[in-house]
Amino acid sequence: MCLTVFLHNLCPSLLWSTSFVWHPHFIHCIKTNRKSYLTSQIQPLAICCNYWHFCWIPSHTGIKGNSCADQEAKLAVTSTVKPLPIPASDFKPYIIQYISLEWQKLWNSFPNNKLHQSHPTINSISPLPSSFSRKDQTVTNRLMIGHSRLTHLHLITKESPPLCSSCSCLLSIEHILCHCQAYQSIRRKYFSYTSLSDIFSKTPKKQLLKFLTEIDIYNKL
Ligand SMILES: [Zn+2]
Repeated sequence: MCLTVFLHNLCPSLLWSTSFVWHPHFIHCIKTNRKSYLTSQIQPLAICCNYWHFCWIPSHTGIKGNSCADQEAKLAVTSTVKPLPIPASDFKPYIIQYISLEWQKLWNSFPNNKLHQSHPTINSISPLPSSFSRKDQTVTNRLMIGHSRLTHLHLITKESPPLCSSCSCLLSIEHILCHCQAYQSIRRKYFSYTSLSDIFSKTPKKQLLKFLTEIDIYNKL
């Protein structure tokens, strides 16, 4: 049952309520000095007014939908609880959550894996934008696995590992994205993170591709 009290600004001894039957409750609260929000609003009136009037506002009375809802609510209180079959699809989120947790536990058992350092959580890899070309997808995937033609071709050709042309460090995806000072100013234009995990999880992939294009490495990966 909804209970609402309106205090009349011009005539404070008038109390408007949608519930008539609760008025004795108010009177009891005021007389016994019980604290509540409503009584705290009303009690000052008891001090400044010798008497006051309660006025009932019909509220929802006569509204067909409200009456039906009240009847159904009363019926639900007395009716017996019927067990309903739960559809199998309701378990799907729990199954997915359980599998994800187990997968994450397994992934955490390989902290020295190179991919674990760049992708520590299994849900950190989001799908590539549909606007990406085949070339964009290939370059992005090579970035994220840390293997590219530029950095790992020597494994096929049996040559020495490539060195960075700017600082002579061993050339790697991490060196290009995180460490090489030659790309520092250009890097700041597109992202400010310094770890692979942050770069891959927080930087839009399009920004990474623009960075690679500007340092002239996009077509070499
Ligand atoms: Zn370098």
